[in-house]
Amino acid sequence: MVYDDQNIFARILRGELPAIKVYEDDQVLAFMDIMPQAEGHTLVIPKTPAVTLLDLAPEAAAYTIQIVQKVAQAIETALGAQGIVLMQLSGASAGQTVPHVHFHLIPSSVHELGKHAVQMGDQDKIKAQAEQIKSALEAL
Ligand code: AMP
Repeated sequence: MVYDDQNIFARILRGELPAIKVYEDDQVLAFMDIMPQAEGHTLVIPKTPAVTLLDLAPEAAAYTIQIVQKVAQAIETALGAQGIVLMQLSGASAGQTVPHVHFHLIPSSVHELGKHAVQMGDQDKIKAQAEQIKSALEAL
């Protein structure tokens, strides 16, 4: 699929838009979802340009999943989450709204999920959760 380098996450990766980051290395970025479906809703994205999971090189997918696992561990520890919904929407038909591949980590239950990307969260509260997750990541 053709990659639009003006999509929101590409702009976050270039530093053109702000993000509440919890983890970054040379291949992956993890940051808080601005319209969370639950407290602690975090997104993990590979830095390589790819629209859907199917466009992502297997090596990049494998590395991104390692970070997904690490961030999930930190969310569990930091926020006392009992379970985490790992969601990945590939394609607009599946409901994908930002055309840069990403993994949602939502500390919730599939039965409790809120509406997808509709309501801005309390940014101060989200920043506080990010600090908790960052501390837990550093302790891993
Ligand atoms: P999807 O519909 O799977 O593409 O998910 C995109 C996610 O990105 C949604 O959960 C949105 O709330 C979230 N989102 C959109 N814009 C931003 C942004 N600027 N910073 C953080 N999260 C965002």
